Amino acid sequence: MTPKVLTVFGTRPEAIKLAPVIKEFQKTAGICSRVAVTGQHRQMLDQVLDLFKIKPDADLNIMSNNQTLFQITTRSLSGLEKLLVKEKPDLILVQGDTTTCFAAALSAFYHQIPVGHVEAGLRTDDKYNPFPEEMNRRLTTVLADLHFAPTALAKKNLISCGVPEKKIFLTGNTIVDALQSILKVIEKHAHPVLKKIPSSAKIILVETHRRENLGKPMENICDALDKLVRIFPNVHLIFSVHKNPKVRETVYRKLDKKERIFLLEPVDYPTLIYLQSKAYLILTDSGGIQEEAPSLGKPVLVMRKTTERPEGVKAGAAKLVGTDTKKIFLEAANLLKNKKAYEKMSRITNPYGDGKASKRIAEIIKFYFKKKQLFTPLQ
Ligand code: UDP
Repeated sequence: MTPKVLTVFGTRPEAIKLAPVIKEFQKTAGICSRVAVTGQHRQMLDQVLDLFKIKPDADLNIMSNNQTLFQITTRSLSGLEKLLVKEKPDLILVQGDTTTCFAAALSAFYHQIPVGHVEAGLRTDDKYNPFPEEMNRRLTTVLADLHFAPTALAKKNLISCGVPEKKIFLTGNTIVDALQSILKVIEKHAHPVLKKIPSSAKIILVETHRRENLGKPMENICDALDKLVRIFPNVHLIFSVHKNPKVRETVYRKLDKKERIFLLEPVDYPTLIYLQSKAYLILTDSGGIQEEAPSLGKPVLVMRKTTERPEGVKAGAAKLVGTDTKKIFLEAANLLKNKKAYEKMSRITNPYGDGKASKRIAEIIKFYFKKKQLFTPLQ
């Protein structure tokens, strides 16, 4: 019997990073691929499903307005309880550090189904930062049977957590696979906002949404952006504003209708990559963008206290600048004025992968089932 792998996800970043894996499963004889989404994010998830032409076999559609972590967790768990009884998968595949990821791993455990964890081993070692992601990924590690580590550092982190080395597979990050496939089509996804910006301008692209940055840190970030645009007449700011109402409230209050500032609704993935490719500089708290920018030769300032992706910082492609208004302004201003500092940050090769992670993951899963008897589903 062909083993059935149920891939479960709920948000935009998971969808982007799992799409190449699902595509690989579809090409792989020996894996029966099924897809379930929780719908933790609705619109931003659907954008990615449409783009990669992935039609979920099940959609739990759990999202509600201003949803709390309790609601996301309990609704995912109760939806998955029924789904797993019906689907009886042999393996559940999850990705990253979202609440969907943790809830799906926990549901798998309750049904005694093995778990594969893509992008395993990222750590800040700070329980509440990022919140709740650091704990989501730690809890998922404890529940997982196959750990797909994107980098050597992630592998080291897993070993430090007591995961046996034979269960860890260094694969690279699947975001590089996704990015490489999308680069072929980005020219068709130019955003109309670029028509309003002179070609000589320096574009700063911004995306920030982390829970721990809501409130005062987000206000500080907006103040720094506002100042950058006022002081540098050649700077145009493009801000993809996350759907989270708490992000939108601050960003629109602080930056709406200002000269040379363009607030956009979240754009589809190829458009975001196109905008990154046109940017001079990227300011973000997003994990995925930190991984993409070095592939595109764009310096990134990470507006967070800490990052679980120190590889980019170590390689010199990213700088951790926190959320203090003055610090963000000074670091960005330096890259706008200092050509040498700018060039140093933009000439880095991507430390996150080689574009073959999905292939490796599919191979490892196939191998796992050959060596091991198939899981006996629930009676
Ligand atoms: N992204 C996108 N459209 C946007 C903003 C971001 O497609 O308007 C992509 C981005 O390129 C990256 C991913 O979304 O691949 C990151 O998702 P997010 O920042 O929501 O989550 P994180 O990576 O921080 O977990």
